[in-house]
Amino acid sequence: MRIFKTKALVIKRRNLGETSRVLTMISSDRGRLEVLVRGIRRPRHRYSGILEPFSLVNVRLQSGRIFDTLQEADLDGVFINLDDELKGLGVGSIVLEILDRISLADDIDHRVYNLVYDYLRCYRNFQVEMADSTNALVFLSSFLLSVLAVTGRLPLMDLCVVCGQERKGEVVLTVYGACHKNCLARDGVYRVLTLEQLMLMRRIVAESVDSLISSPVSNQDMKKIFGLVLFLYYSFFERDIRSLKFFEGVYRKFE
Ligand SMILES: [Zn+2]
Repeated sequence: MRIFKTKALVIKRRNLGETSRVLTMISSDRGRLEVLVRGIRRPRHRYSGILEPFSLVNVRLQSGRIFDTLQEADLDGVFINLDDELKGLGVGSIVLEILDRISLADDIDHRVYNLVYDYLRCYRNFQVEMADSTNALVFLSSFLLSVLAVTGRLPLMDLCVVCGQERKGEVVLTVYGACHKNCLARDGVYRVLTLEQLMLMRRIVAESVDSLISSPVSNQDMKKIFGLVLFLYYSFFERDIRSLKFFEGVYRKFE
């Protein structure tokens, strides 16, 4: 059986049998991997503690029909510490859950890996700022819009997607793009938003998270934008983000 090496981010783990575990990983060059690690739940296993969600690892794997089997691993970095605040964990968990979902739906490539790597690094650098719920919403909205962009699902937000004219008056957002309310098909699914909110969404697509976080955005606007971004995400992926409840719960508790 073929042996290969890759660098991968652990996004999920589940137990298998008495002592083994299957890890879901997103690799830099092979997309999603399901990796069997034999005996890892035995005491003092040489890899216990390093093959956890948020770990970036260099691995040597033996390819198999159902699972690839781990032969060797060495830790390259960790994007979260166990003693991190709950809030940060809320944000990070959403990133991993979305990654799990899109890698099941799509054959993802290195662009998705690079995107997630950049966002997790940015998240680690801006952890203090992330304690503020507005910043957390900016971060997650930016991440989700980037995921939609890299998988070819970002709606058009420049001109009206139906008539091609400048938008004025009431604006609505559909999965295809923003358009005039009057141009919308009668059975179209949409969300109403103001022109200012649409401009803010475009800014979030265009600018990096650190530049967005360093310029003030209102919490109310960000709640609205995040709601719109979730509307787009759910329209495409049709599954709830389970970690969202945890995320909302911890921020509410600290507000
Ligand atoms: Zn129009």
